[in-house]
Amino acid sequence: MKIIVQKFGGTSVSTIEKRNFVIEKVENAIKEGYSPVVVVSAMGRKGEPYATDTLLSLINDDFKALNKQAADLLMGCGEIISSVVMSENLSKRGIKAIPLTGGQAGIITNSNFSEADVVKTDTARLMNLLKEGYVPVVTGFQGVDEEGYLTTLGRGGSDTSAAILGVALNAEEIQIFTDVDGIMTADPRIVEDAALIDEISYNEVFQFADQGAKVIHPRAVDVAMKGNIPLVIKNTLSNCRGTIINNLGDKTGKRIITGITHMANRIQVRIIKDNNKGNCNYKLILQTLAENNISLDLINIFPDKKFFTIDSKDKSNLINILDCLSIKYDLVEDCSKVSIIGSGMKGIPGVMARIISTLDNEKIEVLQTADSHMTIWCLIHSDKVRDAIKILHKVFMQN
Ligand code: ADP
Ligand code: MG
Repeated sequence: MKIIVQKFGGTSVSTIEKRNFVIEKVENAIKEGYSPVVVVSAMGRKGEPYATDTLLSLINDDFKALNKQAADLLMGCGEIISSVVMSENLSKRGIKAIPLTGGQAGIITNSNFSEADVVKTDTARLMNLLKEGYVPVVTGFQGVDEEGYLTTLGRGGSDTSAAILGVALNAEEIQIFTDVDGIMTADPRIVEDAALIDEISYNEVFQFADQGAKVIHPRAVDVAMKGNIPLVIKNTLSNCRGTIINNLGDKTGKRIITGITHMANRIQVRIIKDNNKGNCNYKLILQTLAENNISLDLINIFPDKKFFTIDSKDKSNLINILDCLSIKYDLVEDCSKVSIIGSGMKGIPGVMARIISTLDNEKIEVLQTADSHMTIWCLIHSDKVRDAIKILHKVFMQN
């Protein structure tokens, strides 16, 4: 049996017109001799009746914080609705479809509600249904813990569900259908003439995803890579070939920069040694923040100062901790981290210099930089992020 996993995101299943395109993709897979397993997200985006954010707005934050298990049960409803509706739509077109919750599809997680990790996948039910000629329509983003409680896998978790099932079923391919043609050289909502990337390595796409490109969740890339199952990103509404993610990436070897992405809501923290003279807690800052689960990024340590960034959701926690340690600091709020990604830049001199001079020419202040063998990061003020991405894209991707 040639199994294929086809995951459809929220916008792809939001209206009957779009779901007709989904049916076409499933029909085509069957015609090509595949046994598809469909994974669906909740229908639509915030504001639409069955979208996850809309459902979450029905209960207040205090209840959510104290009743994580109940919040997960509510959050799982959007996908349940979607899988039943999609199954009905497929059945009407003569495709034997059956809706399944993540748990019914065999996805077993730990009990870390809202951010659960998959501990095992039991494919027995799915395999039996496939053998009987059914198309299982599995709710993305959820599993069940060993006690039988519904759990969710964190935002973007439907991509992870698809990857987990693809690996567990040893699928020929995991297809992620969304509202763009594939992975582009930049978010097409920012750069109108962003180009489609035909082939990209797991490692590069992981960087893209991890550094803010919403198009695929990093965990899904990691799972597919470890299982060595090809991952393909495609547009539900077009027949574009999409982006193929595998171990090879760019076969021409000519690409220096693969693409640009960004992460908003960063705060730069600046701590100057001279301002904290005589405070022995100065040495303990990074350790104490780590012990309090504050994730730090762009950490630059100098003899006379420490600079790093945090996500804005951790701001009040950070302030409490630094105040407790009697540390004096400055915050630069509303920052974004721009990532210029490309495994081809390794060993090519001058890329960082070109980035800095490009931004400088546009009068975009660079607050901090960092680099690795595959990525260069620049921290800038968020109000300049669109301009920065546009100009960097123009200079690096269109020449
Ligand atoms: P879905 O609901 O199908 O999971 P998402 O909204 O999670 O879709 O992801 C698709 C979106 O990712 C696109 O609409 C696009 O705006 C955004 N995106 C960000 N960076 C990129 C990129 N480099 N290439 C393609 N899309 C991107
Ligand atoms: Mg998504």
